[in-house]
Amino acid sequence: MKIDIKDLKEQVTNLDFSAKPEEIGFDGEAVFDGPIKVSVEVHDMSERYRVIGRVSAEATLACGRCLRQFKVKLASEFDIVHVKDSSEEEGEIPPGETDELAMEGDIIDIGEDVRQTILLELPMNPVCGKKCKGLCHVCGSDLNKKKCGCDEPALNKPFAGIKNILKKK
Ligand SMILES: [Zn+2]
Ligand SMILES: [Zn+2]
Repeated sequence: MKIDIKDLKEQVTNLDFSAKPEEIGFDGEAVFDGPIKVSVEVHDMSERYRVIGRVSAEATLACGRCLRQFKVKLASEFDIVHVKDSSEEEGEIPPGETDELAMEGDIIDIGEDVRQTILLELPMNPVCGKKCKGLCHVCGSDLNKKKCGCDEPALNKPFAGIKNILKKK
């Protein structure tokens, strides 16, 4: 996903990209269904290029509670300034400035911007739905499909007493 600034004819240029996940560094993570799509708006601010990208992708994740696979649509944006790195100005870009990246020559590579944006959108603990009941701790059956009738795990037992108190009121 590279933009050659020599191709930018206008102050604001709109471009569309589509890339296979592995092309932007998602090695062997087969969670994506189809390509990762990005539409970008490049603002030419002379020697500085503001790139606003809208990223979308579809992925298949495994629910952390019931292990069922489910699909999610990911959509997010990034807004990053790529700065032309001319040797005379070296060191003028304050280090640690976030959202500003030095360019290599005339090429703006947005691959890493897109990868980071997608990574932030991917849930750390995917759950198929808020109401997912998960698997029975005793027999492993999917509690979304049926009640297995097993005893509740010992961990939940202390609350039984509270239930009785509530009933009396
Ligand atoms: Zn689930
Ligand atoms: Zn069970």
